Amino acid sequence: MFGVSDGLVSNVALILGIAGASTDAAFVRVAGVSGLLAGAVSMAAGEYVSLRAQAELVERELEIERISIAENPEAETAELAAIYIERGLNPEQARLVATELMSDPEVALDVHAREELGVDPNQLGNPLTAAAASFWSFSIGAFVPLVPWLVGSGTGAVWASAGLGVGASAAVGGLLARLTERSVVRTVVRQLVVASGACLATYLIGGLLGASVA
Ligand SMILES: [Zn+2]
Repeated sequence: MFGVSDGLVSNVALILGIAGASTDAAFVRVAGVSGLLAGAVSMAAGEYVSLRAQAELVERELEIERISIAENPEAETAELAAIYIERGLNPEQARLVATELMSDPEVALDVHAREELGVDPNQLGNPLTAAAASFWSFSIGAFVPLVPWLVGSGTGAVWASAGLGVGASAAVGGLLARLTERSVVRTVVRQLVVASGACLATYLIGGLLGASVA
């Protein structure tokens, strides 16, 4: 969802910047397609790299826990008991539960991962799946302001592209606000102001640069 919004805003701003500089629709189309691909690939690469790094960090922490459980079972049992005391169990019960959980090394590791590291070792997330999701969501967003340039050109395409890009980004913002139970009206208005501001800025700057090149 955030990827869709990113794709919308970044590509409508790019397209209007190019449209401000050049009235050649073919040129705007090429720029829009390049913007879509460049953005989608960089979002996917960024997602992949960050999730890989996160997974490697968690795997290293799990390995440290695994070694510690094998080599210092007393200390690890005490650590677990302390966590359960903090949660409200009395010391005797906490000690019992901790000892029971520690009797199976696999269960022990799982419990330590959840209680100490705050991770579920079975749900570390797949970096490739996440990268593919980023790629597609950005692409879908970036494709929307490109549509008018596939079928038209000139001032009509500029307005249609700006309207679609800004309108869709406001709609996505409103939907996200609704899902996360924030104010829909405020989010939609903010999204409209920010997205149309970005378009106006790139259009004007594109116009200035285009004029100076010509
Ligand atoms: Zn531990």
